[in-house]
Amino acid sequence: MSADLLSHRERAGMPMSEFKLKPSERDDLVAYAKFLRETLGLQPELGMRVQLEARTRGREIRALVGRPAQTVTLGWWEDDMVDGVCTCAAESDCVHCLVLAEHLVPVQEASKGKVIPAASSTTARIRSVLKRPLSKEERAYVDQMEAILRTVGFYTRMTVHQVYPLAVDPPKSPGYEVLAKPVESPTPPKDAIELWHAARRALAAVRLRTPAFMEEVATAFPPPPVWVEAWRQEDVKVWMERLRRDANSLSLLQPWSKVTEPP
Ligand SMILES: [Zn+2]
Repeated sequence: MSADLLSHRERAGMPMSEFKLKPSERDDLVAYAKFLRETLGLQPELGMRVQLEARTRGREIRALVGRPAQTVTLGWWEDDMVDGVCTCAAESDCVHCLVLAEHLVPVQEASKGKVIPAASSTTARIRSVLKRPLSKEERAYVDQMEAILRTVGFYTRMTVHQVYPLAVDPPKSPGYEVLAKPVESPTPPKDAIELWHAARRALAAVRLRTPAFMEEVATAFPPPPVWVEAWRQEDVKVWMERLRRDANSLSLLQPWSKVTEPP
């Protein structure tokens, strides 16, 4: 039997000693519970039953919560943040997740007034802007952002090809000239949202759009000022050129007023 599985004592709801939660893990659970209560405004019913099932791979805690019982998994899937998924209709960040988090870290400890740490995971930052849990599709999109950020190191120069999955409904077979367009940022992106800003700009240049739920996120977490300034100058240069070109081509045209009517 796996050492990860809980003893009968703990199955019966006894203290969690065998989980050996590290202080940092307790802090993460407190922060997660606080996020669910205060930011999402969740209020679980009193006395919801928790039956701990297993701690798997050391980074996930699974339990049955409530009646009818839902299977809840809390995990450290992204850095030092806890995320929760559930079999209920809400799918994630629900009352069942809250009940389990507060079961693992007793409420007295949770109410000591700990300050929620600066959200470090992309999902947590986006949730804090949207003030609601992410849908399954949105989570998948954020996972995609994270995955691209992880691979950035392999590319000395990114192209639209690498960030193509971040476009909404892109054409199945775009031309090479689209995929080869550079994705540029004045300094290397330091997180997934910064990477997304660079991707968004490159995708917009080839007339591809990014999903609407990211608009609020883009406003709350704008690109670094140095990027905005560099991009502003780039844009000014491009549109000044266009204005000059347009002015030249316009001057070749006869003004409308001078066009002579056919006899
Ligand atoms: Zn649930």
